Amino acid sequence: MSTAALPVLEVLPRDLSAYAAGNTGIPYVHRFGSGRPGPHVLVNALTHGNELCGAVAASRLLDDGVRPRIGTLTIAFANVAAYESFDPARPFDSRQLVHNLNRVWSPEWLDGDEDGPELRRARELRPVVAAADHVLDLHSTSQDVEPFWVYPARARNAEVALAIGRPSVHLVMPSGLGSGTPLIEHGRFGVAGSDAGAALVAECGQHFRRATCELAVEVALDVLGHFGLIERAPGGAARAPQRRYELIRTHVVRTPDFRFARPLVGFETFEADEPIAVDGDAELRAPEACTVLMPTREPIVGREGFYLARAL
Ligand SMILES: [Zn+2]
Repeated sequence: MSTAALPVLEVLPRDLSAYAAGNTGIPYVHRFGSGRPGPHVLVNALTHGNELCGAVAASRLLDDGVRPRIGTLTIAFANVAAYESFDPARPFDSRQLVHNLNRVWSPEWLDGDEDGPELRRARELRPVVAAADHVLDLHSTSQDVEPFWVYPARARNAEVALAIGRPSVHLVMPSGLGSGTPLIEHGRFGVAGSDAGAALVAECGQHFRRATCELAVEVALDVLGHFGLIERAPGGAARAPQRRYELIRTHVVRTPDFRFARPLVGFETFEADEPIAVDGDAELRAPEACTVLMPTREPIVGREGFYLARAL
């Protein structure tokens, strides 16, 4: 039962059925080749069903008829089934139907025996992700905090995110997410030293804010501009100083008695050994001076409670 106040819903899901057919044989996947050599960039939306900004950005690219000058552009709406389950009275519930579509991109899950709507969709989208040279996965956050990039600590990812410069905050993952394999670490994207291109998540702001959707559109265009698929002046973004964090650890909620030591929305700093939360009998303290990112709004056993990062 929800106790936290519901946020204002500035944006609501819309009917996406016009995009269902796509042109690749895979529902909600659209691909445009330029006929000229160049990178293949995937803009992926709705990995989480209630992260509306991706749907706004993907449909904007399609509605505006954005086409690559070079290379190939693929635009995908991932978890439309979860998106369509949206209930304004329970707007956080449509993140996923059964599984978290952003934790199942390993062979164990994709080739495993378990079934469910997200696993079926991941298996369907697997060749789409595998075919891309570069991936932008559009996300948003439950709390109203500054937008930030999330990416594996690889030179190519940092290069792209820093060149674009907005969001201006970067969460770098030296050794994965710690709670499953996200889309941006699928296959060669997750292998250090592979020849994979960039694979980035952009957390564009709070799920239901209009500004979040506008940022998602701009970031998608920035990424396409960066790789030369569209004409876009570099440095179009008002360049803010860049702040980088490195993920130290992910805490997955273990008991129904999880609670934070104080209310958190994200970006709060803790001194070494300062209590962050309790989870059943376990008292969770800061292992070093660190920053909490993406604290859960409502703890659910088996899902991420918070992420700890150190400023770089
Ligand atoms: Zn997300």
